[in-house]
Amino acid sequence: MSVNSYNPYKNAQAQFDSVAERIGLDKATCDLLREPMNEYHCLIPVKMDDGSTKVFKGYRIQHNNARGAAKGGIRFHPQETVDTVRALAMWMTWKCAVVDIPLGGGKGGVICDPRSMTEREQERLCRGWVRQLVKDMGPNIDVPAPDVMTNAKHMLWMLDEYETIVGERTPGFITGKPVEMGGSLGRTEATGFGVIYTVREALRELNIKAENTSASIQGFGNVAQYAAKLYQEMGGKVVAVSCWNFKDEKAYTIFKKDGLDIEALIEISDSYGSIDNKKAQDMGCETLNGDAWLEQEVDILIPAALENQITVNNVNKISKQVKIIAEGANGPTTEDADEILRESDIFVIPDFLANAGGVTCSYFEQVQSNTNYYWEKEEVLEKLDAKMTAAFKDVYELAAKKDLYMRDAAYVISINRVAQSVKMRGWI
Ligand code: NAD
Repeated sequence: MSVNSYNPYKNAQAQFDSVAERIGLDKATCDLLREPMNEYHCLIPVKMDDGSTKVFKGYRIQHNNARGAAKGGIRFHPQETVDTVRALAMWMTWKCAVVDIPLGGGKGGVICDPRSMTEREQERLCRGWVRQLVKDMGPNIDVPAPDVMTNAKHMLWMLDEYETIVGERTPGFITGKPVEMGGSLGRTEATGFGVIYTVREALRELNIKAENTSASIQGFGNVAQYAAKLYQEMGGKVVAVSCWNFKDEKAYTIFKKDGLDIEALIEISDSYGSIDNKKAQDMGCETLNGDAWLEQEVDILIPAALENQITVNNVNKISKQVKIIAEGANGPTTEDADEILRESDIFVIPDFLANAGGVTCSYFEQVQSNTNYYWEKEEVLEKLDAKMTAAFKDVYELAAKKDLYMRDAAYVISINRVAQSVKMRGWI
């Protein structure tokens, strides 16, 4: 889903190329890792409630499975593009490697707008997507999960279709399931909490107390809401969040200088993470333009909406006060904007490290589903914190030792781990 002329796949490849060159990766490994290994494109006919049939275009892309079965979400979005899915699949490989879980990278997408579809139509689409791809997915092959505009309900329809076709119960086929149906406690919180575990570690390294900081967040969906909650629990103040307004077809920033009441904002948001502007104003919040989240005088910026949001056109509007950018979204910074950030004093926690909490908890869910034994929430979150903290430390220590930008250090670790697996398997 590319919201402007930037191509996330080109961005993902450029990031890979520059680190591959830096670490002297051999040509064959480069050729293998700079493109997805498998791509499945399908057409999904869906019976609509009015009796007509609509054909949707769907994708599943497996970037690399040297370290384990492919793993990655499935998005429903009207502007989904195959290049976005390719980029996201590639980032999943690096993400699983940086947190050192035994999984590869995959991603799926369907070009559709679930907001204009009924529940039954969405269910038929979910089942249709599985029917088209069933031969190439499975608990030990490729394991989907929710992403933008898909949720636990969609995952269970997909699981049910898969289990009906294969004729057995295989809850490890998909993650992000409802907790009462094999989902993991803590999965809903995992990505947002994971972002904040890395922010906490960055603040510690920078010798800054969370309670003396403020943050502005782009997005108010799953990742943003839980990041905001935990950050506030740590004593930080969220002054701005932005979200998409479907009625006006534009984004707004909800702002309050003294700090937003996150729980109250969640109460007046819909399930797609859109805040009711009028109700927010009644609560004493200001409604600013969609870009205003990035221009606030805060210590921490958390882009947690979409890719390609920090660009050369707005990167210079970031306040001098900002010390940390924690990339909650996948690919929120374009390559040219990143060139400017790496020359600045801002400490960037790169996307595939910052938002790896989601896949880490998905991995925990897989482990629980495959063993049919479920853990307490505290145990899940404790294990999640330990994984995220260890990954942050690995990246931070390498960056400090070799004087690398955090994104480059994360790439060096991930690419080396995947390249080593490829070699150990004897592929290269
Ligand atoms: P979501 O659909 O729950 O929320 C998306 C939010 O972004 C909504 O509040 C929406 O209003 C807002 N938004 C959309 N367009 C916007 C715009 N132009 N300006 C401002 N706000 C806008 O999605 P999510 O699950 O929170 O995912 C957000 C990002 O995090 C995506 O990039 C996703 O790939 C990434 N991510 C999600 C997870 C996860 O577990 N959910 C894991 C890793 C990465």
